[in-house]
Amino acid sequence: MSFKIFNTLSREKEVFEPINPKKVGLYTCGPTVYNYAHIGNLRTYIFEDVLKRVLNYNNYQVKHVMNITDVGHLTGDRDMGEDKIEKESKKENKTAWEIAEFYTEKFKEDLTSLNIIYPDIFCKATNNIKEQIEMIEVLEKKDFTYRTSDGIYFDTSKIKDYTKLSHQKIDALKEGARVEINIEKRNATDFVLWKFSSKDIKRQMEWESPWGVGFPGWHIECSAMSVKYLGEQFDIHCGGVDFINLHHTNELAQTEATTGKIPWVKYWMHGEFLNLKDGEKMAKSTGNFLTIQSEFLDKDIDPLVYRFATYSLHYRRQMEWSDEIVTSAINSYQNLLAKIKNLGKEKGIINQNFKNKFLSEINDDLNMPKALAVLQEVLKSQLSNKDKLATILDFDKVLGLELDKIKNETETEIIPEEIKKLVKERETARLEKNWTKSDELRKKINSLGYEIRDTNSGSKISKI
Ligand code: AMP
Ligand code: ZN
Repeated sequence: MSFKIFNTLSREKEVFEPINPKKVGLYTCGPTVYNYAHIGNLRTYIFEDVLKRVLNYNNYQVKHVMNITDVGHLTGDRDMGEDKIEKESKKENKTAWEIAEFYTEKFKEDLTSLNIIYPDIFCKATNNIKEQIEMIEVLEKKDFTYRTSDGIYFDTSKIKDYTKLSHQKIDALKEGARVEINIEKRNATDFVLWKFSSKDIKRQMEWESPWGVGFPGWHIECSAMSVKYLGEQFDIHCGGVDFINLHHTNELAQTEATTGKIPWVKYWMHGEFLNLKDGEKMAKSTGNFLTIQSEFLDKDIDPLVYRFATYSLHYRRQMEWSDEIVTSAINSYQNLLAKIKNLGKEKGIINQNFKNKFLSEINDDLNMPKALAVLQEVLKSQLSNKDKLATILDFDKVLGLELDKIKNETETEIIPEEIKKLVKERETARLEKNWTKSDELRKKINSLGYEIRDTNSGSKISKI
């Protein structure tokens, strides 16, 4: 069955045909680690996780790369302002490196609590400075760059179809770009590749380069690292819709200018925003945002309720946050778990008719609302309980809702919060292959009277 996805590049639903059959290269832009991820950011990471799971369900092998932006993302979108990480470091009185490390760990914990599968490669911008400099050197040799008093810039007028991803009229784009005026830029849409450290303020993160001491611009990291890990051309690149006009447009321009290979990326996919009430934007920069900690963990609500809630809308539709959404998602999720519990524990065979129906919905540009409707149909059908269970647990490979966890409900209910926290920490340590830490945590859990079993669907805890 063909897998159709909406490609931002063509603005059409297209049949997915990977560059190498059965092996898919996937790059998803990661967080800027100067604050906690908010649930808006996490909506995008859930959509990307569903995409990866759907590819796997279709028997594709996926190589997934995600960057961690730990330098170069400025407070102004147009190459002005302060580095977000260095700014936060002053505020919190920690080093920029500590800030990046801390929020990267917190981000990974969020992924774990939402049952988001880690990428095969997490790559930090600061670990790949050499690759970024090399790319800028190629651009310089090919005459795509120029120097101003504060950095090396990319000349967007040298690209014929600079707006091919955003589909914007160049005039509209120039207007948008005029928000921050830099009179040294040749064109309003030009962007920085390498920014010089200022002479007045000492930066913590800076490097030597052929052009002087400084740091990379925000966009170049994704170009350099995706090419390094996925090659000069790969299949799918994702992010939230806010990345289309600027970040992804610039990534695209500079990568195709460097390699000369077109298209750099075959399919671009963008997730719509989660907003606060009345369309108000959630923003890390203003602190006006909700987190998994504040909205779920602190209220003792399973974060998977959020994952479930995002399935009520297609990923290309805006979602508005409200208390009613949470209440309704808690009820529906609990209801679903209870119905699955009533099916018993024995698994029969996966029903192929329902599997095909489910597949046709997820393969239609990840139609999760309809995929959930198929799950409800299975529950209401005439199938035997054990076949229903087998079929639903097979769907859960895509849904990632841990639908089998209800079997341990009585156990999990009496597990103290302290133990649950240690188990989560240990899961994170294991995902990071930090075996020493994971062993220490296991011993600690044992000493508190609990034992842990590692299964394909995560760690299971029980009293010793
Ligand atoms: P950032 O850490 O701000 O660079 O963003 C990380 C990811 O979250 C990017 O893919 C953004 O496009 C996405 N994003 C930012 N705000 C929202 C939002 N309110 N809803 C959905 N995705 C968002
Ligand atoms: Zn990026």
